[in-house]
Amino acid sequence: MVSVATPDVPFLDLGAVNAPYADELKAAAGKVVDSGWYVLGDELDAFEREFARYCGTAHMVGVGNGLDALSLILRAYRERGALAEGDEVIVPANTFIASFLAVTANRLVPVPVEPDDASFNLDPARVEAAIGPRTRAIMAVHLYGRLADMPALAEIARRRGLLLIEDAAQAHGASCHGRRAGSLGDAAAFSFYPGKNLGALGDGGAVATDDEDLATRVRALRNYGSPEKYRHDTQGANSRLDEMQAAMLRVKLRHLDTDNAHRRAVAEAYLAGIRHPAIRLPAAGAPGTHAWHLFVVRSARREALREHLARQGIQTLVHYPVPPHRQPAYASLRNLRLPLTDRLHAEVLSLPMAAVLRDDQVERVVEACMSYPDDP
Ligand SMILES: *Cc1c(COP(=O)(O)O)cnc(C)c1O
Repeated sequence: MVSVATPDVPFLDLGAVNAPYADELKAAAGKVVDSGWYVLGDELDAFEREFARYCGTAHMVGVGNGLDALSLILRAYRERGALAEGDEVIVPANTFIASFLAVTANRLVPVPVEPDDASFNLDPARVEAAIGPRTRAIMAVHLYGRLADMPALAEIARRRGLLLIEDAAQAHGASCHGRRAGSLGDAAAFSFYPGKNLGALGDGGAVATDDEDLATRVRALRNYGSPEKYRHDTQGANSRLDEMQAAMLRVKLRHLDTDNAHRRAVAEAYLAGIRHPAIRLPAAGAPGTHAWHLFVVRSARREALREHLARQGIQTLVHYPVPPHRQPAYASLRNLRLPLTDRLHAEVLSLPMAAVLRDDQVERVVEACMSYPDDP
């Protein structure tokens, strides 16, 4: 375990992330306290409208967290009859476990597909090859904030009659041909976990879609399956975005584009400054398509690089050390051969990335990388 007592450059300092907006956040929180209304009220309505407009979707439904957003999308499709028990959902093999959990929680079968080596995202050719008679949906994850190849995936989904779902938990504000993450498939899930590009001060999530029937179903499902008080059409969940978090998110949303621009500037400084034969830099993709949730480099001897950076006061993390098919929770998938995914998990290292990193901190990270011995 690499530990840095007090890192000069912390991986992510959430206090610092929210400090610039502290006055606005406290004013908004005070309003909620005084309102006497804490669940399913005006703040949520307003946030849903504002974030739907930002993403360019007709509907936005606030829920308790990102996992529930994913899970309730699939559940709503199951209710509608578009998905049935045992149907297959194509997922990236190298994702955060939530993408898998949402699938299996709905008694659907995840089919992990290896990523494109350069983008870390679903490879459309491999997706096409993985489609079988029971495949009903593709779940694209915009990993590390970079959009998956949505035009290619949408073309496959249309031609093969599949649903296309976005896991946009890391990609708030990323855009492709003028359309933002959340509006690029049939439905999308967002997380507002504090460390995300659009982060609440607690848990939160949302479902974005143009599909009115789907939005109506998720709206009922998040609230005990209840379209109106004490009428329960389905056996729903309790997963709501509360007024306090909605109020925090309305403040943070106003600054999302500025925050993302700062992240982009940090990424550009890393990309320009780090030139090292043992450190492979991430590909930015087309302009605007990367929200730089994480800046993930690759190195054949990742742990040596990690320790070197720690000694220089740079805190790093690994997203993620163990892929879902190697987790005890998915022992049934253990025998899958996913060599590219296994290699990625052994090589990836996330450098500090935040909208509040200062120039001197970015410079420290670049210098620390450059001082890594060629052959440690
Ligand atoms: C964070 C995350 C989630 C889950 O969001 P929570 O709000 O933590 O439940 C799902 N998918 C991806 C890719 C994520 O990064």
